[in-house]
Amino acid sequence: MKNFLEHAKKLLDGSAQITNRQKFSFMIYSIACVHLFLLCIFIILDITPLYLFNIASVATYLFAAYWVRRDIYLPVYYIVYFEIILHSFVATLCIGWQFGFAQYIIAIIPVGYYVGYTLDTKRRKLVIATGSAVAAALLFLTCKFLSYVREPFFTIDSPTIEFAIYTFNSICTFVFLILFSLIYIFEMKWTYAKLRHQNVILEQLANTDPLTGLYNRRSMQMFIEQALASDSNFALIMGDIDDFKKINDTHGHDFGDVALHDIAQIAVQQVGEHGYVCRWGGEELLILISNSTHEQTYQIAESIRYHVARHNFESGGQRIHCTLTLGIAIYQRGMSIEETITHADGKLYQGKQSGKNTVVI
Ligand code: GH3
Ligand code: MG
Ligand code: MG
Repeated sequence: MKNFLEHAKKLLDGSAQITNRQKFSFMIYSIACVHLFLLCIFIILDITPLYLFNIASVATYLFAAYWVRRDIYLPVYYIVYFEIILHSFVATLCIGWQFGFAQYIIAIIPVGYYVGYTLDTKRRKLVIATGSAVAAALLFLTCKFLSYVREPFFTIDSPTIEFAIYTFNSICTFVFLILFSLIYIFEMKWTYAKLRHQNVILEQLANTDPLTGLYNRRSMQMFIEQALASDSNFALIMGDIDDFKKINDTHGHDFGDVALHDIAQIAVQQVGEHGYVCRWGGEELLILISNSTHEQTYQIAESIRYHVARHNFESGGQRIHCTLTLGIAIYQRGMSIEETITHADGKLYQGKQSGKNTVVI
């Protein structure tokens, strides 16, 4: 029971999916149970054609269950469609319209649309589903017409039995429609959850750099625009790894990638909640620091420089050190984004000129 409730909860929040096999098994076994019950009723009422028909129906559904176990679904839907219509006709002609057997014809209409759109039926989904729905409607009316123009083959005189069978058929139809509608809801929840998850992944792919996990240039431009729009104080720090070409040449490009990744992580750790770190170019980082004083911005840049310089990069059993030079530009009202970035770049250049592994503000 606990497992069942947990599964139902997962279905409702879209974190679990009902498989085709579960859906079709539910449909097959629930219809087979209805037929089994009707079989008993018709044996008691001694209506031979109907109890023989119901034996054949139960056997058909057991056969259909075998197909469902082998993941064959479309022919199973056709079996259900034709069996329900045929049974409704035979039962109505045998004992009369007033027993409510034709209601089952109405219940199969949503199944056609559902099957058309969830199974991989490829072509003409709407045509096939609507065609079978219209056919069901016409057959429902034909059944009514036949019961109107001719007397039933068997007469059941008891209004109580008529009422009981009608009520049973109505309840079965409504319960089936309610449960089937729930399957639609579960399916929708699952699809939305999957879409949301894919959107998160796509957003991540569109906004971040795969090697370092840092924000990419596009995201940084957006963050700077937001900072400008909010009219807040902000500063840009441009960082560039020192002698990175030499590191690549000496230890290989793969090692260079690892070093780049580690340096990016150090920068993210040091910046924390104070701003955003982006990979601006090959081995250049651009950092946006908002709502901080000049001193705080300098401290952040300095701690990045310090931690990178202290970090041991391991390559082929050797420990290697890398350094980073950083240039800071404080945004001044009236400056453009480009001017601020150029300014940070200029400070970085000064740092490179004055011996690297330094912070220039
Ligand atoms: P400087 O101290 O003046 O910055 O010297 P540098 O050698 O670092 O010179 P520069 O910044 O111009 O060199 C950039 C080098 O970074 C060139 C390129 O091979 C390397 N690089 C850029 N992107 C990547 C990357 O994704 N992975 C690796 N391994 N190397 C990269
Ligand atoms: Mg460099
Ligand atoms: Mg560079």
